[in-house]
Amino acid sequence: MNLVLNEYNEEQLEAIVAVRDCLEGFSPGLRATLIRRAGNYLTFRQDVDAFLACHFSGVCTLTCYEDRRSACCNREGIITFFADVAINVLISQPKEIDRLIEALNLQNLGTKCVYLGNEGCLWKVKPIVCEMFLCKYARGKVFDNSPAILNEWRKLRRREKRYTWPNRPVLFDELERYFMERGCGSSLMYCHNSPGLLRMKAQWKTKSTGFKAY
Ligand code: SF4
Repeated sequence: MNLVLNEYNEEQLEAIVAVRDCLEGFSPGLRATLIRRAGNYLTFRQDVDAFLACHFSGVCTLTCYEDRRSACCNREGIITFFADVAINVLISQPKEIDRLIEALNLQNLGTKCVYLGNEGCLWKVKPIVCEMFLCKYARGKVFDNSPAILNEWRKLRRREKRYTWPNRPVLFDELERYFMERGCGSSLMYCHNSPGLLRMKAQWKTKSTGFKAY
């Protein structure tokens, strides 16, 4: 029996399969070049992981993980950028991608994110929106009495924008363009299809060239 996937699963599945298929046509050298291109971003992600492990793992483990509440990981609660998918597929093993595809092909009748497995998130490098999400309770617990930690977090948030926020040339936009030029398309290419992000890019181009972008 063929299951009819919901729109969310279908959109995610299309993006993952499109990236995987496109990458199959790349030489190992080209893949390595792309991974190198994402190198600074991956370092940034390690820094965020280290920050969260240092300051938040206690709070999150106690309030959410031990009772398997995982309150951040709600069903269809996250926006995934195409670059999230591209980077994750690039650095994952084929069996790790298969696990994502298997999860998306099941009917998700629960209230939790389709990617939440028994051991946590199935992504190797989870979407940036998930990485940077801190619930109000956890933020209050950690930041209320520690302006220094809050300041550190704000610096990480500013760094995040250098990769994702297209008011200047950014990796997330570049990766979309790179795959588009090789015939790969996805509705998750928000840097190329979201009116808000397109406006931001047009404003940046106007500022940097002095000409209005039409
Ligand atoms: S993608 Fe992973 S981290 Fe993000 S909501 Fe789903 S399970 Fe949670």
